[in-house]
Amino acid sequence: MSESTQRVAIVTGAARGIGAATAVRLAADGFAVAVVDLEESAAKGTVEAIEAAGGRALAVGADVSDAGQVTAAVDRIAAELGPPVVLVNNAGVTRDNMLFKMSDSDWDVVMAVHLRGSFLMTRAAQKHMIDAKWGRIVNLSSTSALGNRGQANYAAAKAGLQGFTKTIAIELGKFGVTANSIAPGFIQTEMTKATAERIGRDWEEYVAERAAAIPVARGGLPEDIAHAVSYFVSEGAGFVSGQVLYVAGGPRN
Ligand code: NAP
Repeated sequence: MSESTQRVAIVTGAARGIGAATAVRLAADGFAVAVVDLEESAAKGTVEAIEAAGGRALAVGADVSDAGQVTAAVDRIAAELGPPVVLVNNAGVTRDNMLFKMSDSDWDVVMAVHLRGSFLMTRAAQKHMIDAKWGRIVNLSSTSALGNRGQANYAAAKAGLQGFTKTIAIELGKFGVTANSIAPGFIQTEMTKATAERIGRDWEEYVAERAAAIPVARGGLPEDIAHAVSYFVSEGAGFVSGQVLYVAGGPRN
């Protein structure tokens, strides 16, 4: 595909974990990919993996919760890669604590990255999708949206993202833009490794314990989520919008 006809995707939080696997997968699917993360240098590894496989990618440093940085990032992506028509809002953080110990900043940071970040990125990117009369937005929710002890902030943000997704699906549908959420269960990444560490658990034991409670009897891998993103972003998924897909190895893990 020539550079002028190749569609451009943005994946946030794509330096590692689910975001990195998604960026690599979308590049293999034929997209040019903007790999956005807090530090441009951290995003370079994913870009190198994409380029080594023959793809096109750009590392972009931006804090998705900062309006000025988001505008600058999306403008730069449009100028250097092409107008973005796919957006995967994946950047995320956890600040777990029981409610009575949760600080104001634990609450605010989680809301800022997940909710404000997805709002700012989507608002900045949607104009390119409307111009193209085609677009795909995928927001990373979580099974925690259903409630999870110690995650009042994260659960509220991830449930909020589902409402955000359904609303933008309604607003943008007539422009050929779909919006869907993916709600992963337990996925083996730095985020869940940090959780195991915080509660003083050995990682291998923790994975085995989590896997034992999952119907397909294993922990999820970033590629499991990338595969679901690839489906929502595909041409054939144009009549699927406003949905939440739980990707958790079972009905409710
Ligand atoms: P991860 O390994 O921690 O990766 C998240 C990435 O997002 C990191 O590279 C991080 O950068 C980046 N990031 C954080 N704040 C950012 C900001 N303000 N602006 C730009 N980038 C930012 O996480 P993951 O496990 O792959 O999770 C990816 C998404 O899936 C998250 O939204 C998460 O909530 C969701 N999810 C994960 C699981 C799971 O089990 N892993 C389950 C359900 C949902 P730094 O390293 O610099 O902080």
